[in-house]
Amino acid sequence: MSEEKKIPYKIYLEENEMPDSWYNVRADMKNKPAPLLNPGTLKPLTFEEMRGIFCDELCRQELDDTTAYFEIPEEIRKFYKMYRPSPLVRAYCLEEKLQTPAKIYYKFEGNNTSGSHKLNSAIAQAYYAKKQGLKGVTTETGAGQWGTALSMACAYLGLDCQVYMVKCSYEQKPFRREVMRTYGANVTPSPSNTTEVGRRILEEFPGTTGSLGCAISEAVEAATTQEGYRYVLGSVLTQVLLHQSVIGLEAKAAMDKYGIKPDMIIGCAGGGSNLGGLISPFMGEKLRGEADYRFIAVEPASCPSFTRGKYVYDFCDTGKVCPLAKMYTLGSGFIPAPNHAGGLRYHGMSSVLSQLYADGYMEAVSVEQTSVFKAAEEFARVEGILPAPESSHAIKVAIDEALKCKETGEEKTILFGLTGTGYFDMVAYERYNNGEMTDYIPTDEDLAKGLAGVPKFPGNEI
Ligand SMILES: *Cc1c(COP(=O)(O)O)cnc(C)c1O
Repeated sequence: MSEEKKIPYKIYLEENEMPDSWYNVRADMKNKPAPLLNPGTLKPLTFEEMRGIFCDELCRQELDDTTAYFEIPEEIRKFYKMYRPSPLVRAYCLEEKLQTPAKIYYKFEGNNTSGSHKLNSAIAQAYYAKKQGLKGVTTETGAGQWGTALSMACAYLGLDCQVYMVKCSYEQKPFRREVMRTYGANVTPSPSNTTEVGRRILEEFPGTTGSLGCAISEAVEAATTQEGYRYVLGSVLTQVLLHQSVIGLEAKAAMDKYGIKPDMIIGCAGGGSNLGGLISPFMGEKLRGEADYRFIAVEPASCPSFTRGKYVYDFCDTGKVCPLAKMYTLGSGFIPAPNHAGGLRYHGMSSVLSQLYADGYMEAVSVEQTSVFKAAEEFARVEGILPAPESSHAIKVAIDEALKCKETGEEKTILFGLTGTGYFDMVAYERYNNGEMTDYIPTDEDLAKGLAGVPKFPGNEI
């Protein structure tokens, strides 16, 4: 038996080996991500302006690009212990199936009821809201993972939770909705007539089935018009990336235990939180010149922010009520084609990852959904886990890279993020299984329409 085979199928950390701080990769970036801007003044958003939207501690985290480590409060660590550490799995069965010399590892974040990594930030955001003495939080959810995670966190802490759920998901995923309600959340299909911005969007686009950007506008309005409420967001923001660094810190600690060094780290990218969290500690080493890694972001060809978007300031939401963020974007009005079933449908990308990508520290690839579901099926059959369509984007590229190793004979070590399970995505799997799934790649004209909505001001030309 080779040295290699001594690595177990699953590497778990002991409780006392779990990280006690989150890592803020911005501290090690020479080119800091661009600040959020007040859309009215085009000046960086101040703490005072931000605290009407987010709770105070989260504003501090959002604005802090120099502190490298933030201690994880005891209460959050206690909650983490209910479902963490998450396993780092050596995909021996997949390697054998592919007959590749590559060594494949994945960090599995689907071992909790919400079924994804989103719980890592949900509990943190709910905790700080509770600590500030707030009554509750509002948010949006697309596919439903974030809303579910937040509902769980709020139930645990005794906070009210109001979720605006993208209407097509609300209708297509009744079980997700009911999980959230079981945890006590109030779920409203978006756009709705409960907010001014919702009514405005319904008037302008009657019959729309909604979008994430639109649900964000409604949730922000709901937070800022109710006493004792703040808004929380499950991705994109730098605070979310900070909380998700727990994924990378655990993965790195587990790999260090066995002397494993990944050559490449792959993750799916919607708003960038799981990928950012997974790569953060490794990226920190790269930024400090201590080690080198390849980082690969995988996005859907139908919502290609990194690979076909522009790096400019844009609105984070359709209703244009949120601050402006500098990011790779397709325009806040961009909505993926209706046949898109693979998730990751947000028009923009984390400002941290955007800056790292612009500076050449990261690569990005886009993949078509039928190939993603094919990879999901192959993975499920050998590794046992039924992956979320989002996660399967990373699986697809991990398999592609492993097959390249088969051609070249290189024994590369691949680490990818398996962000969640796909039990609530069976309508999409059904389409794939029936051979009814199609691909649609937006044309340049389609993209130009979305990009036309990018705000125009000096220095922000496309
Ligand atoms: C939300 C989600 C994603 C994408 O969000 P990121 O912020 O890009 O990580 C990926 N996988 C799963 C399972 C999700 O729920």
